[in-house]
Amino acid sequence: MNKVYLDHAATTPIRVEVYEKMVEYMAKDFANADSVHSLGRESANIVLACRDNIASIIGADSKEIYFTSGGTESDNWAIKGVAFANRDKGKHIITTKIEHPAVYNSCAFLEENGFDVTYLDVNEQGFVSSEDLIKAIREDTILISIMFANNEIGTIQDIKALASIAKERGIIFHTDAVQATGTIKYNVKDLGVDLLSISGHKFYGPKGIGILFIKEGTKIVPFVNGGEQERGRRGGTTPTSLIVGINEALTIADREIDDNNAHIYYLKQRLINGLKKEDIVVNGSLDKDKSLPGTVSITFNKTKPGIVLNNLDMCGICASAGSACTAASEKPSRTLLAIGLTEEDSKRSVRFSIGRNNTKEEIDYTISTLKDILIRVREG
Ligand code: PLP
Repeated sequence: MNKVYLDHAATTPIRVEVYEKMVEYMAKDFANADSVHSLGRESANIVLACRDNIASIIGADSKEIYFTSGGTESDNWAIKGVAFANRDKGKHIITTKIEHPAVYNSCAFLEENGFDVTYLDVNEQGFVSSEDLIKAIREDTILISIMFANNEIGTIQDIKALASIAKERGIIFHTDAVQATGTIKYNVKDLGVDLLSISGHKFYGPKGIGILFIKEGTKIVPFVNGGEQERGRRGGTTPTSLIVGINEALTIADREIDDNNAHIYYLKQRLINGLKKEDIVVNGSLDKDKSLPGTVSITFNKTKPGIVLNNLDMCGICASAGSACTAASEKPSRTLLAIGLTEEDSKRSVRFSIGRNNTKEEIDYTISTLKDILIRVREG
C-alpha cells in the first residue's frame, strides 16, 4: 500500500483544481497589483474579486478581509496589533492554555513587553467555561483570544457565547479559526467576533497565504510595515496567484463541506470503533457537534513514549504526536497536559487527522497495523 496520510491537521495536499488555477494566473497575471498600468489593474481586479468572494463566504465585508502569509502571521497581527493599539486602555489579555503556539507565544512575547496575560484552563474535554472567562475579565482587559477548534484534540468552542461575553463588556475578541475554516460553516457577523484567523493550507489550498478578518472599526496597528498594500495595513507585494489559490480552495471547501465532513466523520468513527478492544483512551470530546469530524487524539496505554508513532511511520502511516508545530521539541503537548494527561501519557498519544482523500481501506489498514504494533510494543 502507498503511504497512508493521516496528518491533515498539520497540512492538506493542495487540490488539483486549485493549483491548476494558480499556475494559470501565475503565468498570465504576473503584474504587480499596485502598478497603475493596464496589466497591474487586471491583477488588482482579480484580487478584488477574490476578496469579495471570500468575504461573502464568511459573512464579512470585502474591506474587512486582509491577506497575510498564513495562520501564524494572522494570529501574531491580531494579538500584537490589538495590544499595541489599545495599550492606553489597558494591558490585560485573556487567552487559553490550549492555543496554537502562534497565539500562545504572541501572548508570551507581550508578557515580556509589559502586558499581563491570563491563560484560561479547560476541562478534561478541552472546553473553556464562560464562568471562568467572566471571572478572568478585569477593568483593564483589552483583548480575549480563544481558538475556534483545537488542532490536537479537535474540540470546538462555543465562540458565539464566548464572544458575546466580550462584546457586552466592550472587549475586542479574536478567534483562531485555522482548523475550523473549511470544516465548519460560520458567519463572522453571527459569531460576533472582531478578528478571525484563517490559513490556506488547512483546506487543500496553498501554503504561505492566510487571511485576517478585521471587523471595521477595530483598533489595530499594522504588523508588517511596508507599502500601501492591504489598505496600508499590511505591506508586501500582493501575491496574486496565492490569493487565487486560497479563494478557489475556500470556495470548493465551502461547497463540499457537508459531503466531506460526512465521509471524514464516518472514517473517524471506523478508526475509533476498530480500536475499541485495545487499551486506549480517546482524548477530547466524542460529541459529534463539538469536535472536528476528522481529528482524533488517542493515548496508547502501556507503551513507551513515541513508540507507536515511530512504528506507524515505519509501516507507511503518517500521523502526529500532538501537533506538527511541537513535534520537533521533546516537550509534552500543552493541550494534552491542560486536559489532564500526565507527561508520560501525553508522549504516548498520537493525533490522527483524516482528510477527504482517505479511504475505508486505509483506515482498516491503520487499525490492523496498530493492533500488530501494540502486540509487539506493549509493556507488561
Ligand atoms: N493556528 C492553528 C490552530 C493551527 O493549527 C496552525 C497550523 O498548524 C496555525 C495557527 C498556523 O498556521 P500556518 O501554518 O498557516 O502559519
